[in-house]
Amino acid sequence: MNLNDYIASIEDYPKEGVTFRDITPLMANGPAFAQATQEIVDYAREVGAEVAVGPEARGFIVGCPVAYAMEIGFAPVRKKGKLPREIIEVEYELEYGTDVLTMHKDAITPGQKVVIIDDLLATGGTVKATIDLVEKLGGEVVGIAFLIELKELNGREKIEGYNYKALMQY
Ligand code: AMP
Repeated sequence: MNLNDYIASIEDYPKEGVTFRDITPLMANGPAFAQATQEIVDYAREVGAEVAVGPEARGFIVGCPVAYAMEIGFAPVRKKGKLPREIIEVEYELEYGTDVLTMHKDAITPGQKVVIIDDLLATGGTVKATIDLVEKLGGEVVGIAFLIELKELNGREKIEGYNYKALMQY
């Protein structure tokens, strides 16, 4: 099955000049969603992941079934103000201004091998902030998995030196 057939491309959304890559048709199709999940599971096993980490919200959708299939844990990365216990935080650049991502302080144990999972690599700002959080907690980022990489935005430069895999490229 060609997973690209289940990605909808919407021109000029959310603003002019941007082509939004919508993964909801893939999620809606059981066999396609299962195949995508399995491909990431195979990758995460290959790199020896012991825990999965994903940023809200679509990183949860892609990452949680992978963690379930591998019988490993999943640690959420969230915007500030959403996690109820002691957190660490990292500030990262947006197109206009900055934002903050957080994780629970005990989400990762030092030395744990981490796979980061998100739906899409665009500029790489989100994944870089997620790497910083994991490393602050002493985790080792052994792999990073995306459904989609938007090649022209060069997000891969932000994760240079890290092992990563994207199931689809645009
Ligand atoms: P970035 O931090 O720039 O790599 O983008 C992070 C997140 O923004 C991705 O994980 C997506 O959820 C979302 N995103 C950015 N660009 C797009 C796009 N063209 N289509 C769909 N989602 C996008």
